[in-house]
Amino acid sequence: MNHPRNDELLLLAYGELAEPAAGQIEAHVATCLACQAQLAGFERGRLALDAQQQRSRAWSCRGRFPLAIRPSVGRPRRRGRRRPDM
Ligand SMILES: [Zn+2]
Repeated sequence: MNHPRNDELLLLAYGELAEPAAGQIEAHVATCLACQAQLAGFERGRLALDAQQQRSRAWSCRGRFPLAIRPSVGRPRRRGRRRPDM
């Protein structure tokens, strides 16, 4: 098999490549250092993009639902019964 095209590697990195092409390209990548390096670069890009999207999603949720995602704070905590000072 020839080297897969860049767009095929990119789709594979994003999990968007359909079978049987995905399986064939994965088999090729397993034995081809050049394609492994290329795929690793695409995966780094995908991870960076995912992290960026998560940050912006979290940010927009905070704005839209300020109370919904707030952790429950200030829940009364029981401490030992307080004896009045005398
Ligand atoms: Zn290759």
